[in-house]
Amino acid sequence: MSKNSKAKKNSSTTWQYSNALESVDHISISPIYNLYIGGKFVKPLTKKYFNSINPANEKKLAEIALAGKSDVNKAVLAARSAYDNVWCRMDSAERGKYIYRIARLIQEKSRELAIIESLDGGKPIRESRDIDIPLAAAHFFYYAGWADKLDYVFPGRKTSSIGVAGQIIPWNFPLLMAAWKIAPALASGNTVVLKPAESTPLTALKLAEIIQESDLPPGVVNIITGDGTTGELLVNNTKVDKIAFTGSTEVGKIIIKSLAGSKKKYSLELGGKAANIICEDASIDQAVEGIINSIFFNQGHVCCAGSRLYVQESISNQIISKLKNRMDHLILGDPLDKNTDIGAINSNAQLKKIKMYLDLGKNEGGIIYQSKHSIPKKGYWCAPTLFTDISQSHRIVQEEIFGPVLAIQTFRTIDEVIAKANNTPYGLSGGVWTDKGSKIFQISKEIRAGVIWANTFNIFDPTSPFGGYKESGIGREGGLEGISPYVNFINRT
Ligand code: NAP
Ligand code: MG
Repeated sequence: MSKNSKAKKNSSTTWQYSNALESVDHISISPIYNLYIGGKFVKPLTKKYFNSINPANEKKLAEIALAGKSDVNKAVLAARSAYDNVWCRMDSAERGKYIYRIARLIQEKSRELAIIESLDGGKPIRESRDIDIPLAAAHFFYYAGWADKLDYVFPGRKTSSIGVAGQIIPWNFPLLMAAWKIAPALASGNTVVLKPAESTPLTALKLAEIIQESDLPPGVVNIITGDGTTGELLVNNTKVDKIAFTGSTEVGKIIIKSLAGSKKKYSLELGGKAANIICEDASIDQAVEGIINSIFFNQGHVCCAGSRLYVQESISNQIISKLKNRMDHLILGDPLDKNTDIGAINSNAQLKKIKMYLDLGKNEGGIIYQSKHSIPKKGYWCAPTLFTDISQSHRIVQEEIFGPVLAIQTFRTIDEVIAKANNTPYGLSGGVWTDKGSKIFQISKEIRAGVIWANTFNIFDPTSPFGGYKESGIGREGGLEGISPYVNFINRT
């Protein structure tokens, strides 16, 4: 966090900063967005539109087309035709060039994309500017590089593309999730129909404009907006060959049931309830900062957020007191302010869900602590919250809240904390904070989760595979592993 020259301390030792609002003069948001099908923006056959709002002030940003059954069919047929006639026949190095071009255009428009991401979703500009948008470009760059080297991805095995991929994404990392899905699908020769989340469609539609500008052949990427019903129609469309879904475990289970018995391939990236473990030999301040980052930044709207904290008993009082102090000094407010740590909750529905869990935690006997923030009158907001005096059986320890809510327990031995960390239906991620390499190896080996960070958290790279165990999903995205959900293995050479 930059301390600008006007920063001053008030009597309660909280630093006050002058506003540092990102300018919105240079961004363009149309009042109405149509569906991107076959290389053109077309009106929905349903003739229906819904609003996307800014969750920080509840103001309407744009009207968005609602795709129905005939629109979904149209998009899938466009993708099918582009696959059969153009994309799967194109030289793989040529395909790579288009993907590089999309990556470069994302970089060129990164400021505009970051601002729109923050306006539409409520996340602090620091996050969309420094994390979401650069990583989205990095994913396109990374997979562009593999497009003409697919024969080397799986040594000794020959692969072919699958066909049309139906891709459905959530609202927490809208452009980044679109990149995670589209880039490997295109690189391995497939065409795409993507449906972004209802509350955050804008950057996916901006990506459609970028794709149009890149001259990607029409129909290779189609972006259709809508709600859960649109997603369901895409899943059940018989001309789709593969479904890639990122979202809640609840919807993931519905999808898996509807795909049972069909020949469609699928990959699912679902919910999480990550355990962060602080051992008594950890660097205390580094661990506290890591915990704050892992659960409170981006309002806890992160599938791999460290929502459960296990602290070794001898240091628990010290850690909890430092966490409370740090929570009180986070800056909550306008997502477009560069000083903001905590932005708006993504939607009213999500805020209600979080509040339900806060009540539940208190009713189950947990002791709640909320930071002392004044909450803006308009918009959806939740102050950083922690619970102590809870146990494994509490629902706030077992269930994904997807908000800035931390459940803290203590432990005495490493075996005990490993058992507790594994005691949820999820297995997406985890973290360990210790000075001892041997503990890192033991804990990361024995926790059943797709990624374990050591003395850091929420670090991503396109070369690293990401995905879950248990109810956190099936398949991996990112890295070489992220290509396998988009290919058929033909034979061994
Ligand atoms: P969600 O409710 O499951 O929705 C995800 C997407 O699916 C949205 O586009 C949604 O449309 C659509 N959808 C809803 N019902 C559907 C149905 N029956 N069939 C097909 N599609 C349907 O999840 P969310 O609330 O947007 O996102 C939060 C969840 O995503 C959390 O559980 C989080 O852990 C998970 N997540 C996981 C990862 C990962 O990599 N593992 C990454 C990010 C997020 P609408 O928006 O219109 O409802
Ligand atoms: Mg919105």
